[in-house]
Amino acid sequence: MSDNKIYVTQPAMPPLEEFIPYLEQIWNNKWLTNNGPFHQQFEKELADYLGVKYLSLFSNGTLALITALQALRITGEVITTPFSFVATTHSLWWNNIKPVFVDIEENCYNLDPAKIEAAITPQTTAIMPVHVYGNPCNVEEIQRIADVYGLRVIYDAAHAFGVKKGGQSVLNWGDLSILSFHATKVYNTIEGGAIVCQDEKTKQRIDLLKNFGFRNEVTVIEPGINAKMNELQAAYGSLQLKYVDGYIVKRKEITSLYKELLTGVAGISFIEDSRSDVEYNYAYFPIRVNTAEYGISRDDLYLKMQEHDIFGRRYFYPLISDFPTYKGMPSAKADNLPVATQVAKEIICLPIYPHLEESEIRKICDIIRNK
Ligand SMILES: *Cc1c(COP(=O)(O)O)cnc(C)c1O
Repeated sequence: MSDNKIYVTQPAMPPLEEFIPYLEQIWNNKWLTNNGPFHQQFEKELADYLGVKYLSLFSNGTLALITALQALRITGEVITTPFSFVATTHSLWWNNIKPVFVDIEENCYNLDPAKIEAAITPQTTAIMPVHVYGNPCNVEEIQRIADVYGLRVIYDAAHAFGVKKGGQSVLNWGDLSILSFHATKVYNTIEGGAIVCQDEKTKQRIDLLKNFGFRNEVTVIEPGINAKMNELQAAYGSLQLKYVDGYIVKRKEITSLYKELLTGVAGISFIEDSRSDVEYNYAYFPIRVNTAEYGISRDDLYLKMQEHDIFGRRYFYPLISDFPTYKGMPSAKADNLPVATQVAKEIICLPIYPHLEESEIRKICDIIRNK
Protein backbone atom coordinates (compact mmCIF):
# COMPACT_ATOMS: atom_id res chain seq x y z
CA MET A 1 0.00 0.00 0.00
CA SER A 2 1.28 3.44 -0.85
CA ASP A 3 0.05 5.27 2.27
CA ASN A 4 2.04 5.46 5.49
CA LYS A 5 -0.52 3.78 7.66
CA ILE A 6 0.78 0.96 9.83
CA TYR A 7 -1.79 -1.72 10.58
CA VAL A 8 -1.70 -4.37 13.28
CA THR A 9 -0.69 -6.89 10.67
CA GLN A 10 0.21 -7.29 7.02
CA PRO A 11 0.23 -10.69 5.33
CA ALA A 12 3.61 -12.24 4.65
CA MET A 13 3.60 -13.52 1.06
CA PRO A 14 6.14 -15.65 -0.81
CA PRO A 15 7.89 -14.15 -3.88
CA LEU A 16 5.40 -14.00 -6.76
CA GLU A 17 7.86 -15.44 -9.30
CA GLU A 18 8.17 -18.57 -7.17
CA PHE A 19 4.42 -19.05 -7.18
CA ILE A 20 4.11 -18.94 -10.98
CA PRO A 21 5.40 -22.52 -11.59
CA TYR A 22 2.84 -23.80 -9.09
CA LEU A 23 0.10 -22.02 -11.01
CA GLU A 24 1.38 -23.47 -14.28
CA GLN A 25 1.17 -26.92 -12.79
CA ILE A 26 -2.41 -26.35 -11.63
CA TRP A 27 -3.31 -25.14 -15.13
CA ASN A 28 -1.73 -28.28 -16.59
CA ASN A 29 -3.40 -30.59 -14.07
CA LYS A 30 -6.85 -29.06 -14.59
CA TRP A 31 -7.61 -30.27 -11.06
CA LEU A 32 -8.77 -27.35 -8.95
CA THR A 33 -10.21 -28.88 -5.80
CA ASN A 34 -11.47 -32.17 -4.26
CA ASN A 35 -8.27 -33.62 -2.82
CA GLY A 36 -6.05 -32.73 -5.79
CA PRO A 37 -2.29 -33.37 -6.02
CA PHE A 38 -1.29 -30.17 -4.21
CA HIS A 39 -3.83 -30.87 -1.46
CA GLN A 40 -2.40 -34.35 -0.94
CA GLN A 41 1.20 -33.14 -0.96
CA PHE A 42 0.57 -30.12 1.27
CA GLU A 43 -1.41 -32.09 3.84
CA LYS A 44 1.60 -34.38 4.36
CA GLU A 45 4.16 -31.56 4.34
CA LEU A 46 2.18 -29.59 6.88
CA ALA A 47 1.69 -32.52 9.27
CA ASP A 48 5.47 -33.14 9.10
CA TYR A 49 6.30 -29.50 9.63
CA LEU A 50 4.01 -29.19 12.63
CA GLY A 51 5.01 -32.52 14.17
CA VAL A 52 1.51 -34.02 14.20
CA LYS A 53 0.30 -37.40 12.94
CA TYR A 54 -3.13 -36.69 11.47
CA LEU A 55 -4.18 -33.43 9.89
CA SER A 56 -7.06 -32.52 7.61
CA LEU A 57 -7.01 -29.33 5.53
CA PHE A 58 -9.97 -26.94 5.46
CA SER A 59 -11.04 -23.92 3.42
CA ASN A 60 -10.97 -21.79 6.60
CA GLY A 61 -10.66 -22.08 10.36
CA THR A 62 -14.31 -21.44 11.18
CA LEU A 63 -15.53 -24.37 9.08
CA ALA A 64 -12.83 -26.48 10.74
CA LEU A 65 -14.21 -25.52 14.19
CA ILE A 66 -17.80 -26.24 13.15
CA THR A 67 -16.80 -29.59 11.63
CA ALA A 68 -14.68 -30.56 14.66
CA LEU A 69 -17.76 -30.34 16.88
CA GLN A 70 -19.71 -32.44 14.37
CA ALA A 71 -16.93 -35.01 14.16
CA LEU A 72 -17.11 -35.73 17.90
CA ARG A 73 -20.92 -35.33 18.00
CA ILE A 74 -20.68 -32.67 20.68
CA THR A 75 -24.07 -31.54 22.04
CA GLY A 76 -25.56 -29.76 25.05
CA GLU A 77 -23.18 -27.33 26.76
CA VAL A 78 -19.54 -26.55 26.05
CA ILE A 79 -17.27 -24.61 28.40
CA THR A 80 -15.34 -21.90 26.60
CA THR A 81 -13.64 -18.52 26.96
CA PRO A 82 -15.13 -15.09 26.27
CA PHE A 83 -11.63 -13.74 25.47
CA SER A 84 -11.24 -14.84 21.85
CA PHE A 85 -12.24 -14.09 18.30
CA VAL A 86 -15.98 -14.48 17.90
CA ALA A 87 -15.67 -17.55 15.60
CA THR A 88 -14.83 -19.70 18.64
CA THR A 89 -18.31 -19.30 20.11
CA HIS A 90 -20.10 -18.97 16.77
CA SER A 91 -18.97 -22.51 15.94
CA LEU A 92 -20.94 -23.71 18.98
CA TRP A 93 -23.98 -21.65 17.98
CA TRP A 94 -23.93 -23.17 14.48
CA ASN A 95 -24.08 -26.61 16.12
CA ASN A 96 -26.96 -25.64 18.39
CA ILE A 97 -24.65 -25.99 21.41
CA LYS A 98 -24.93 -23.66 24.41
CA PRO A 99 -21.66 -21.90 25.23
CA VAL A 100 -20.88 -21.60 28.94
CA PHE A 101 -18.34 -18.83 29.55
CA VAL A 102 -15.61 -19.29 32.15
CA ASP A 103 -13.10 -16.61 33.18
CA ILE A 104 -9.45 -16.41 32.08
CA GLU A 105 -6.09 -16.52 33.86
CA GLU A 106 -4.42 -13.27 34.94
CA ASN A 107 -0.98 -13.94 33.44
CA CYS A 108 -1.76 -15.50 30.04
CA TYR A 109 -5.43 -14.69 29.32
CA ASN A 110 -6.34 -18.34 28.62
CA LEU A 111 -9.30 -20.24 30.07
CA ASP A 112 -8.69 -20.62 33.82
CA PRO A 113 -8.71 -24.34 34.75
CA ALA A 114 -9.40 -23.46 38.41
CA LYS A 115 -12.81 -22.11 37.36
CA ILE A 116 -13.88 -24.88 34.98
CA GLU A 117 -15.27 -27.41 37.46
CA ALA A 118 -17.83 -25.02 38.92
CA ALA A 119 -19.30 -24.55 35.43
CA ILE A 120 -19.78 -28.26 34.63
CA THR A 121 -23.40 -29.49 34.54
CA PRO A 122 -24.98 -32.81 33.44
CA GLN A 123 -25.34 -31.23 29.96
CA THR A 124 -21.63 -30.44 29.60
CA THR A 125 -19.95 -32.56 26.91
CA ALA A 126 -16.74 -30.70 26.08
CA ILE A 127 -14.30 -27.90 26.84
CA MET A 128 -13.22 -25.53 24.06
CA PRO A 129 -10.20 -23.51 25.21
CA VAL A 130 -8.18 -21.12 23.04
CA HIS A 131 -4.37 -20.76 23.02
CA VAL A 132 -4.76 -16.99 23.04
CA TYR A 133 -1.98 -15.10 21.19
CA GLY A 134 -0.31 -18.50 20.69
CA ASN A 135 0.39 -18.91 24.43
CA PRO A 136 -0.28 -22.53 25.37
CA CYS A 137 -3.17 -23.12 27.76
CA ASN A 138 -2.64 -25.04 30.99
CA VAL A 139 -3.11 -28.22 28.93
CA GLU A 140 -2.21 -30.68 31.69
CA GLU A 141 -4.79 -29.35 34.11
CA ILE A 142 -7.50 -29.02 31.44
CA GLN A 143 -6.93 -32.65 30.42
CA ARG A 144 -7.04 -33.78 34.05
CA ILE A 145 -10.45 -32.16 34.52
CA ALA A 146 -11.73 -33.53 31.20
CA ASP A 147 -10.67 -37.05 32.24
CA VAL A 148 -12.37 -36.79 35.63
CA TYR A 149 -15.67 -35.68 34.09
CA GLY A 150 -15.53 -37.61 30.82
CA LEU A 151 -15.42 -34.50 28.65
CA ARG A 152 -13.88 -33.95 25.23
CA VAL A 153 -11.34 -31.18 24.68
CA ILE A 154 -11.29 -29.25 21.42
CA TYR A 155 -8.63 -26.54 21.23
CA ASP A 156 -9.11 -23.47 19.12
CA ALA A 157 -5.44 -23.27 18.15
CA ALA A 158 -5.97 -20.59 15.49
CA HIS A 159 -3.08 -18.57 17.02
CA ALA A 160 -0.81 -21.50 17.83
CA PHE A 161 0.78 -22.42 14.48
CA GLY A 162 4.17 -24.00 15.16
CA VAL A 163 4.01 -23.53 18.94
CA LYS A 164 5.73 -26.25 20.96
CA LYS A 165 5.63 -27.21 24.60
CA GLY A 166 8.22 -29.52 26.10
CA GLY A 167 9.61 -30.07 22.58
CA GLN A 168 6.22 -31.33 21.30
CA SER A 169 3.62 -29.61 19.16
CA VAL A 170 0.96 -28.09 21.42
CA LEU A 171 -1.53 -29.31 18.78
CA ASN A 172 -1.17 -32.85 20.09
CA TRP A 173 -3.02 -31.96 23.30
CA GLY A 174 -6.76 -32.55 23.56
CA ASP A 175 -8.96 -34.61 21.23
CA LEU A 176 -8.78 -32.12 18.39
CA SER A 177 -7.01 -28.85 17.60
CA ILE A 178 -8.13 -26.33 15.01
CA LEU A 179 -5.82 -24.07 13.04
CA SER A 180 -6.55 -21.00 10.95
CA PHE A 181 -4.45 -19.92 7.97
CA HIS A 182 -6.30 -16.67 7.45
CA ALA A 183 -4.35 -13.79 5.87
CA THR A 184 -3.93 -12.13 9.29
CA LYS A 185 -2.30 -15.11 10.98
CA VAL A 186 1.40 -16.03 11.46
CA TYR A 187 1.16 -18.45 8.55
CA ASN A 188 -1.45 -17.96 5.83
CA THR A 189 -2.86 -19.80 2.83
CA ILE A 190 -4.92 -16.65 1.98
CA GLU A 191 -7.86 -18.29 3.77
CA GLY A 192 -7.52 -21.78 5.17
CA GLY A 193 -7.54 -24.00 8.19
CA ALA A 194 -7.01 -27.51 9.50
CA ILE A 195 -8.08 -30.00 12.13
CA VAL A 196 -5.40 -31.98 13.92
CA CYS A 197 -6.61 -35.28 15.36
CA GLN A 198 -4.98 -38.22 17.11
CA ASP A 199 -6.06 -41.29 15.09
CA GLU A 200 -6.73 -42.44 11.57
CA LYS A 201 -10.42 -43.23 12.10
CA THR A 202 -11.16 -39.73 13.30
CA LYS A 203 -9.32 -38.27 10.31
CA GLN A 204 -11.43 -40.37 7.95
CA ARG A 205 -14.58 -39.11 9.63
CA ILE A 206 -13.40 -35.48 9.40
CA ASP A 207 -12.47 -35.91 5.71
CA LEU A 208 -15.90 -37.29 4.99
CA LEU A 209 -17.66 -34.48 6.88
CA LYS A 210 -15.80 -31.76 4.97
CA ASN A 211 -16.95 -33.30 1.68
CA PHE A 212 -20.76 -33.47 2.10
CA GLY A 213 -20.59 -36.82 3.94
CA PHE A 214 -19.56 -38.81 0.84
CA ARG A 215 -18.04 -42.18 1.69
CA ASN A 216 -17.81 -43.16 -1.95
CA GLU A 217 -19.35 -42.12 -5.27
CA VAL A 218 -22.84 -43.25 -4.37
CA THR A 219 -22.93 -43.32 -0.57
CA VAL A 220 -23.60 -40.26 1.58
CA ILE A 221 -23.61 -41.40 5.16
CA GLU A 222 -24.50 -38.12 6.86
CA PRO A 223 -25.11 -34.43 6.18
CA GLY A 224 -21.58 -33.13 5.83
CA ILE A 225 -20.59 -29.69 4.60
CA ASN A 226 -18.35 -28.32 1.87
CA ALA A 227 -15.19 -27.16 3.63
CA LYS A 228 -12.50 -28.39 1.26
CA MET A 229 -9.27 -26.50 0.65
CA ASN A 230 -8.72 -25.81 -3.04
CA GLU A 231 -5.55 -26.39 -5.10
CA LEU A 232 -4.53 -22.72 -5.22
CA GLN A 233 -4.61 -22.44 -1.44
CA ALA A 234 -2.75 -25.74 -1.06
CA ALA A 235 -0.03 -24.81 -3.58
CA TYR A 236 0.39 -21.39 -1.96
CA GLY A 237 0.53 -23.07 1.46
CA SER A 238 3.19 -25.48 0.30
CA LEU A 239 5.37 -22.59 -0.91
CA GLN A 240 4.72 -20.60 2.30
CA LEU A 241 6.11 -23.46 4.37
CA LYS A 242 9.57 -22.66 2.96
CA TYR A 243 9.35 -19.16 4.42
CA VAL A 244 7.47 -19.50 7.69
CA ASP A 245 10.52 -20.16 9.88
CA GLY A 246 11.95 -16.88 8.63
CA TYR A 247 8.67 -15.09 9.39
CA ILE A 248 8.76 -16.35 12.99
CA VAL A 249 12.40 -15.30 13.44
CA LYS A 250 11.50 -11.76 12.33
CA ARG A 251 8.55 -11.71 14.73
CA LYS A 252 10.81 -12.75 17.56
CA GLU A 253 13.22 -9.91 16.77
CA ILE A 254 10.36 -7.41 16.67
CA THR A 255 9.06 -8.68 20.02
CA SER A 256 12.52 -8.25 21.59
CA LEU A 257 12.85 -4.70 20.27
CA TYR A 258 9.38 -3.72 21.50
CA LYS A 259 10.22 -5.07 24.95
CA GLU A 260 13.57 -3.31 25.03
CA LEU A 261 11.98 0.02 24.08
CA LEU A 262 8.91 -0.24 26.31
CA THR A 263 10.36 -1.79 29.45
CA GLY A 264 10.13 0.66 32.30
CA VAL A 265 7.27 2.73 30.88
CA ALA A 266 5.03 3.12 33.94
CA GLY A 267 1.63 1.48 33.50
CA ILE A 268 2.58 -0.60 30.42
CA SER A 269 3.02 -4.34 30.93
CA PHE A 270 3.56 -7.38 28.69
CA ILE A 271 2.06 -10.79 28.63
CA GLU A 272 4.10 -13.58 30.21
CA ASP A 273 5.86 -15.21 27.24
CA SER A 274 9.17 -16.55 28.42
CA ARG A 275 8.36 -20.00 29.77
CA SER A 276 11.47 -22.06 29.21
CA ASP A 277 9.53 -25.15 28.05
CA VAL A 278 7.65 -23.27 25.30
CA GLU A 279 8.69 -22.39 21.74
CA TYR A 280 6.59 -19.36 20.85
CA ASN A 281 5.46 -18.10 17.44
CA TYR A 282 5.23 -14.39 18.38
CA ALA A 283 1.85 -14.15 16.67
CA TYR A 284 0.81 -10.96 18.49
CA PHE A 285 2.38 -8.27 20.63
CA PRO A 286 -0.24 -7.31 23.22
CA ILE A 287 0.44 -4.68 25.87
CA ARG A 288 -1.71 -3.88 28.87
CA VAL A 289 -2.40 -0.29 29.86
CA ASN A 290 -2.99 0.50 33.52
CA THR A 291 -4.78 3.86 33.31
CA ALA A 292 -3.86 5.03 36.83
CA GLU A 293 -0.13 4.36 36.36
CA TYR A 294 0.18 5.24 32.67
CA GLY A 295 -1.84 8.45 32.96
CA ILE A 296 -4.22 7.89 30.05
CA SER A 297 -6.56 4.99 29.23
CA ARG A 298 -6.10 2.20 26.71
CA ASP A 299 -8.74 3.81 24.48
CA ASP A 300 -6.97 7.19 24.68
CA LEU A 301 -3.71 5.51 23.65
CA TYR A 302 -5.48 3.64 20.86
CA LEU A 303 -6.84 6.94 19.45
CA LYS A 304 -3.56 8.78 20.02
CA MET A 305 -1.76 6.14 17.95
CA GLN A 306 -4.36 6.51 15.19
CA GLU A 307 -3.58 10.24 14.99
CA HIS A 308 -0.10 9.09 13.98
CA ASP A 309 -1.44 6.52 11.45
CA ILE A 310 -0.69 3.56 13.74
CA PHE A 311 -3.60 1.13 13.85
CA GLY A 312 -3.27 -1.22 16.82
CA ARG A 313 -6.21 -3.49 17.59
CA ARG A 314 -7.99 -4.06 20.88
CA TYR A 315 -8.02 -7.88 20.66
CA PHE A 316 -10.24 -9.04 22.37
CA TYR A 317 -12.58 -6.18 23.04
CA PRO A 318 -15.53 -6.40 23.27
CA LEU A 319 -15.60 -9.82 24.89
CA ILE A 320 -17.61 -12.43 22.94
CA SER A 321 -19.95 -12.60 25.93
CA ASP A 322 -20.86 -8.94 25.32
CA PHE A 323 -22.18 -9.48 21.77
CA PRO A 324 -26.00 -9.49 21.51
CA THR A 325 -26.26 -13.22 20.67
CA TYR A 326 -24.60 -14.25 23.94
CA LYS A 327 -25.13 -11.29 26.28
CA GLY A 328 -28.31 -12.60 27.90
CA MET A 329 -26.77 -15.86 29.11
CA PRO A 330 -26.12 -16.17 32.86
CA SER A 331 -22.47 -17.13 32.30
CA ALA A 332 -21.97 -14.00 30.16
CA LYS A 333 -22.41 -11.60 33.08
CA ALA A 334 -19.41 -9.44 33.94
CA ASP A 335 -19.33 -10.60 37.57
CA ASN A 336 -18.76 -14.17 36.32
CA LEU A 337 -15.87 -12.92 34.18
CA PRO A 338 -13.96 -10.34 36.26
CA VAL A 339 -10.48 -10.99 34.82
CA ALA A 340 -11.64 -11.08 31.19
CA THR A 341 -13.69 -7.92 31.75
CA GLN A 342 -10.64 -6.06 33.12
CA VAL A 343 -8.19 -7.36 30.48
CA ALA A 344 -10.59 -6.42 27.65
CA LYS A 345 -10.49 -2.82 28.93
CA GLU A 346 -6.69 -2.66 29.11
CA ILE A 347 -5.34 -4.65 26.17
CA ILE A 348 -4.01 -3.41 22.87
CA CYS A 349 -2.11 -5.39 20.24
CA LEU A 350 0.70 -3.45 18.58
CA PRO A 351 1.62 -3.93 14.91
CA ILE A 352 3.73 -7.02 14.28
CA TYR A 353 4.55 -8.64 10.95
CA PRO A 354 7.78 -9.79 9.30
CA HIS A 355 8.21 -6.70 7.10
CA LEU A 356 7.63 -4.18 9.90
CA GLU A 357 10.72 -1.95 9.93
CA GLU A 358 12.86 -1.02 12.89
CA SER A 359 12.20 2.69 12.30
CA GLU A 360 8.47 2.00 12.42
CA ILE A 361 8.80 0.11 15.71
CA ARG A 362 10.82 3.00 17.17
CA LYS A 363 8.16 5.48 16.02
CA ILE A 364 5.39 3.40 17.64
CA CYS A 365 7.32 3.17 20.92
CA ASP A 366 8.09 6.91 20.91
CA ILE A 367 4.37 7.61 20.64
CA ILE A 368 3.66 5.28 23.56
CA ARG A 369 6.45 6.75 25.71
CA ASN A 370 5.57 10.38 24.97
CA LYS A 371 1.77 10.06 25.07
C1 LIG B 1 -8.85 -16.32 13.08
C2 LIG B 1 -9.52 -17.06 14.17
C3 LIG B 1 -10.54 -17.99 13.91
C4 LIG B 1 -11.22 -18.12 12.58
O1 LIG B 1 -10.46 -18.51 11.55
P1 LIG B 1 -10.87 -18.19 10.04
O2 LIG B 1 -9.83 -18.97 9.29
O3 LIG B 1 -10.75 -16.71 9.84
O4 LIG B 1 -12.25 -18.70 9.81
C5 LIG B 1 -11.03 -18.74 14.96
N1 LIG B 1 -10.59 -18.57 16.21
C6 LIG B 1 -9.64 -17.66 16.51
C7 LIG B 1 -9.19 -17.53 17.93
C8 LIG B 1 -9.10 -16.86 15.51
O5 LIG B 1 -8.19 -15.92 15.82
